[in-house]
Amino acid sequence: MPKGGTPQRKCPAPVHLRDLPSISAVLSHPAASPLLDRHGRTAATDAIRAVLAEARAALLAGGDTVPDADAVAALAGARLEDTGRSNLRPLFNLTGTVLHTNLGRALLAREAMDAALAAMGDPVALEFDLDDGKRGERDDHVRALLCELTGAEDATVVNNNAAAVLLVLNTLARGRNAIVSRGELIEIGGAFRMPDIMAQAGARLVEVGTTNRTHAKDYKGALTPETGVILKVHTSNYRIQGFTKEVPAPELAGIAHGVGVPLVNDLGSGTLVDLSAYGLKREPTVREAVAEGADLVTFSGDKLLGGPQAGFIVGRRDLIQALNRNPMKRALRVDKVRLAAIEATLKLYRDPDRLAQRLPTLALLSRPQGEIAEQARRLAPVLAQVLGDGFTVGVCDCDSQIGSGALPLDTLPSAGLAIRAGGAALSALAAAFRTLSRPIVGRIEDGRLILDLRCLRDEDAFIATLAELRLP
Ligand SMILES: *Cc1c(COP(=O)(O)O)cnc(C)c1O
Repeated sequence: MPKGGTPQRKCPAPVHLRDLPSISAVLSHPAASPLLDRHGRTAATDAIRAVLAEARAALLAGGDTVPDADAVAALAGARLEDTGRSNLRPLFNLTGTVLHTNLGRALLAREAMDAALAAMGDPVALEFDLDDGKRGERDDHVRALLCELTGAEDATVVNNNAAAVLLVLNTLARGRNAIVSRGELIEIGGAFRMPDIMAQAGARLVEVGTTNRTHAKDYKGALTPETGVILKVHTSNYRIQGFTKEVPAPELAGIAHGVGVPLVNDLGSGTLVDLSAYGLKREPTVREAVAEGADLVTFSGDKLLGGPQAGFIVGRRDLIQALNRNPMKRALRVDKVRLAAIEATLKLYRDPDRLAQRLPTLALLSRPQGEIAEQARRLAPVLAQVLGDGFTVGVCDCDSQIGSGALPLDTLPSAGLAIRAGGAALSALAAAFRTLSRPIVGRIEDGRLILDLRCLRDEDAFIATLAELRLP
């Protein structure tokens, strides 16, 4: 249609503008009353004003549809639902990465959720001793449990493992040297790089050895009266293979203790149990790291441990006490809700036989491929029907990852749904999946959208959510 740019063409617009309802007319229309009930007068008025402004702009641009009060209320309602929807709403993690850092890592056990919920709305004896009515210690609620589960003398808890490493280095090596192997200068992602953490902690990084080989003599040669700590870092998210050499922890402990310097072992994921019992590959346990002579061991709460975000530090009592005296500890402490969830999670470890049933993360990690493939065969026709022509849906074998840097080279055989489509349809589908009331997040691989079903727990909810799908 040829575009008329003459002034006369714009004449009808003001007539239409006069037909737009006023804000107060919409507000007093019966169609607005559910908006007022649900969102309140302020938010409803703002949304109606915004819808009217858009309608006015559209008319001035040459449009000729004038929404009535009913339509304005409906548009405002949709707007409020949209902005009111949380981006933190639950989603289906079908990426194949179980401990997905961007998707919130571990899923809590029912016991941990119940404990957190109970602590949320009521006062609790967080720093209050119920026996003598005096002031108590926040860490006491989990200290004994951590010692019991790791064999350590004492323990403390901070916000996450990055905070644990920061606090340890700041306490033991501020203004002093921290010795670490060049093969262990890790970057975890999200700006956690060991050299940067060292700098922020005020410690001087002393690198020893080479990327692939570090010997006992390298550590010994770097020791000076300025040495505050020897740090061993679990290279969780990569492996150095081939012509390699690292100094085993017991030997390193001997070197450190020979000169009265503490050995700190940052285990990263850290696990409290032998994972081979659950069909996974063995990772060094925290108990082993303690037994091998580390003076302090740090590890995460929301990786393989399967709890909320937290950083645990276990080890020698005098060192834990020094950490607790550091003013930085106050800035890194955890709140009552998380402590309640941590305590409940740790207690599950007293009964290892039922751990895989109770800890969702462990349950997902140990799900057999056959069971997942069966689920994929059930769901493939359902998905195919929802997607209709233009997409093909097949059952596929795929590999899940543990995630969060744990066991990076050990994938878990899994199964899923592979969706194929022509042109840009696949990325449009992935985008449509993300707009659902419970978004579905998969991964695009080799021109297919793969939905790895390892982490699909609620099949009925998945089917109900698929029914919402509106393809562009
Ligand atoms: C994950 C990890 C960290 C950081 O732990 P967060 O709990 O994510 O803060 C530190 N060191 C290692 C070796 C890790 O694997």
